[in-house]
Amino acid sequence: MQQKLNLYNTLTRKKEEFEPLHAPFVGMYVCGPTVYGEPHLGHARSAVTFDVLYRYLKYLGYTVRYVRNVTDVGHLENDADEGEDKIQKRAKLEHLEPMEVVQHYTNIYHEELRKLNVLPPDIEPRASGHIIEQIEMIQEILKNGLAYEVNGSVYFDVPAYNKGHHYGKLSGRNIDDLLSNTRATEGQEEKRSPLDFALWKKASPQHIMRWPSPWSEGFPGWHLECSAMSRKYLGITFDIHGGGLDLMFPHHECEIAQSQASDSHTDAAKYWVHNNMITVNGQKMGKSLGNFINLSELFSGNHAMLEEKYSPMTIRFFILQAHYRSTLDFSNEALQAARKGYTKLMNGLRVLAKLSTAVEDAGTPDAQLNEELLKLSEDCFRGMNDDLNTARTIAALFNLLKKINSLYLGQLPMAAITRGTFDTIRSTYTQLVLDVLGLQEEPSGDVEEMLELVLGFYKEAKETKAYDKVDHIRAELKKQGIVIKDLKTGIDWAYEE
Ligand code: ZN
Repeated sequence: MQQKLNLYNTLTRKKEEFEPLHAPFVGMYVCGPTVYGEPHLGHARSAVTFDVLYRYLKYLGYTVRYVRNVTDVGHLENDADEGEDKIQKRAKLEHLEPMEVVQHYTNIYHEELRKLNVLPPDIEPRASGHIIEQIEMIQEILKNGLAYEVNGSVYFDVPAYNKGHHYGKLSGRNIDDLLSNTRATEGQEEKRSPLDFALWKKASPQHIMRWPSPWSEGFPGWHLECSAMSRKYLGITFDIHGGGLDLMFPHHECEIAQSQASDSHTDAAKYWVHNNMITVNGQKMGKSLGNFINLSELFSGNHAMLEEKYSPMTIRFFILQAHYRSTLDFSNEALQAARKGYTKLMNGLRVLAKLSTAVEDAGTPDAQLNEELLKLSEDCFRGMNDDLNTARTIAALFNLLKKINSLYLGQLPMAAITRGTFDTIRSTYTQLVLDVLGLQEEPSGDVEEMLELVLGFYKEAKETKAYDKVDHIRAELKKQGIVIKDLKTGIDWAYEE
């Protein structure tokens, strides 16, 4: 089957066939976290969405360079140009160096994403490590007459830029509407227009995170790091720029403006891709609203909104069973349904492994059944190719699984399908579930408890003098590196030394 991926491009507001600029290479940049707190479910959605895109592009044969940044400086409170740096504020509260805060929460972010089986990006640049590149970009924008300096700070001149460009092209806003809806706020007197945004801010005496620049000792504006770092690692135009829908405006709009106003003169990326939000009772889940649930809380069940704990793969399946552009409403019922769905897909893997020994080369193929199975197999990819519709793909996998289970239960004859058909459905199923959707087996049950159960059978066999059973249990456990100890005090087990 011809596999052509179509992606919804926010920039053109339509689904487009994905054509890389320099096939087989694909450059993808995704806005990562601001590391001043634990990752929550909203962070997981973005990470899982672009992980699946990364995995699928690789599955399609592309050589992908995936860059996902860590924001460790410049992100001020309320996402505005005034107020305290989010990380510096945290550092003060916890009596830590800002970089200690950054490292601490970066480690947690990595750890939680690893549990969700999210692959690490190829490059993970930090804003604070790219101050020179950001200063260079500001110099280009100043030279091109689209920024101005006031008291050691530099601002992007949105009205001047809008004369030759369209500020709002990504988010579909226009500057007049924006102006009538934006009030000049306190402490923003340096800006010529309330729409202007900071490229460089002069640091106040008490500000800790500061670097020298041609204008003042200070720090870069939040939007600038992504423009400078994506250009450094992926070039002036690259294939995909991703992020959460809440970043579309102003963050990504400003990224495009910066790129156009610099010597790049491009929209930075060909395809701009945005994942939708997690909602709680229809309201966006977010730190500012206080209705968020951290991943560690989901995994432990330790949160007032949780009826029980949910495993990382349950969370991953929960995210994947909705299309990334739809909102995804949190509820315990939805998570419980996700656990069932995930378990079903995992059981399917086991059934396929058992069936693979039952394929008959000398069977009597049923053409209609073979055709039906191949069609169901193709359907699974149709979902992926239609704007990464994992919801459709999972539904198609379940349809395929129904047939696989019928073959397993003998309701459909294994002798009626060819080895070629079986290999196709098996590779479709296993590759999509494991490699593309990134689901993996999670150990279920407690090993020690299961061993206690076996020891119970062992004890019973000894008491009834069923010595063949006794020997059998001993031998089987030994294969697993476990030895049974008949002690005076009772029966125990130990790892074989
Ligand atoms: Zn960004």
